[in-house]
Amino acid sequence: MHLDAFELHRPESLSETLRLAQTWAGQSDFLAGGTDLLPNYKMHLNLRPHLIALDRVSELGGVSLDRFGATATLGELERYLGQARAYPGVADAVTEVATPLVRATATLGGNLLVDTRCFFFNQSHFWRQSLGYCLKADGDRCHVVPQKERCYATFSGDLAPALMVVDAEVEVAGASGVRRLPLRDLYDRTGDGIRRLRLAPGELLVAVHLPSEARQFRASYLKLRIRPSFDFPELGVAVAARTDGDRIEALRLAVGGLETYPRRFDELTDPLEGQRWSEERIRDLAAAVSAAVRPVRNTSLAPDYRKRMAGVYVRRAIDRMRHRGG
Ligand SMILES: Cc1cc2nc3c(=O)[nH]c(=O)nc-3n(C[C@H](O)[C@H](O)[C@H](O)COP(=O)(O)OP(=O)(O)OC[C@H]3O[C@@H](n4cnc5c(N)ncnc54)[C@H](O)[C@@H]3O)c2cc1C
Ligand code: SF4
Repeated sequence: MHLDAFELHRPESLSETLRLAQTWAGQSDFLAGGTDLLPNYKMHLNLRPHLIALDRVSELGGVSLDRFGATATLGELERYLGQARAYPGVADAVTEVATPLVRATATLGGNLLVDTRCFFFNQSHFWRQSLGYCLKADGDRCHVVPQKERCYATFSGDLAPALMVVDAEVEVAGASGVRRLPLRDLYDRTGDGIRRLRLAPGELLVAVHLPSEARQFRASYLKLRIRPSFDFPELGVAVAARTDGDRIEALRLAVGGLETYPRRFDELTDPLEGQRWSEERIRDLAAAVSAAVRPVRNTSLAPDYRKRMAGVYVRRAIDRMRHRGG
C-alpha cells in the first residue's frame, strides 16, 4: 500500500478554506486528522488530487460547554469532558474511540463524517480488484446484498449517537453561507448509502452546538466490539433521559454501528414520555429496537448476533444511565 501524490492546501481562515473548496469542487477532500482519510487513500479508495487541510483554520477549533469545534481532537474533548464532568454519554463514547494515540490526532468533525465501513471496501486495491471492485469504489455491484442500486456499508462512528440523544446541532459553512441543522438530520437515510450526508458540495463542518437543555439529561453510551482496547463498534447504543423521580419527562435513544446511518428512535421513545420506568416498558423498548434494526453481513460479528445484542445493550445502557447521578 502506498500514498499517491496529491496537492496539499493549508488555508489559514474559514473564508480561504471555502474559496479553495469552490476552486477544487469535485476534485478535493477536506483533511482533518487524516486517521480515516489517509488509510483509505493508501487503499486507493475514492482518491482526489487535492487535499484541503483544516488544522490551521482557527474558526474550526476550541471546546466549551456549549460548542465543540470541528477540529478539536477527540483527546482534547475527552480531557475537557472529564474535567467539566459534562455530557456523560458523550464522555463514555469519546473515551471508547480507538486508542489514545488515534484520539490525539482524530478530530470530532472527522468522527462524525467518518466513511462507512465494509469487509469488501476496507481492503487493498489488489484485494478489491480480484473481486471486480464494488459499488462504493470503482465497481458497479454490491457483494453484501447482491444488487446494483445501494451500498450497505456500516456507519461506525461512536460520537454521533451519543451527541444525537442530547439534541446536538451541527454548524456547517459553504459557498451560500452558514447554517445549522440537528445532527440527526446530517445523515440522509433516503440516499443510496454512498451519498449519505446532507452537505452541499464544498460545505464543511464548523462546530457542534449543545443546547442548554442537554445538561439536564442523564445519559450513557455502550459499545459492543471485539477488542475493547481498540476496535470500531459492532454496535453502539446511546440513551439520554430527563426524569422527575421515576417519571420520564424526555427520552432519546440512538443506535450506531449497525446500519449505514446512526439512527434515533423517536417513534419508540416518544410514547414513553409521561410514563414511569418499569421493567416491562424497558423490555418492550429493547425488543422493539432489536426488531427494527437491519444489520448486514459486512463486519466481523454475525448480523443476527448484533441484532439480538441491540436489545441487550438498550437494557444495559438504560440501566447504566438510571444508576448514574444527574
Ligand atoms: C486504528 C483505528 C481505530 C479506530 N477505531 C474507532 C472506534 O473505535 N470508534 C470510532 O468512532 N472511530 C474509530 N476510528 C475512526 C476514527 O475515529 C476516525 O478515523 C477519526 O475520528 C476521523 O477523524 P480525522 O480527524 O482523522 O478525520 P479525517 O480522516 O481527516 O477525515 C475523515 C472524513 O471526514 C471529512 N472531514 C473531516 N473533517 C471535516 C470537516 N470539518 N468538514 C467536512 N469534512 C470533514 C474528511 O474529508 C474525510 O472524508 C478508528 C480509526 C483508526 C485508525
Ligand atoms: S455494502 Fe456492498 S457496495 Fe457497500 S462497500 Fe460493501 S460490498 Fe461495497
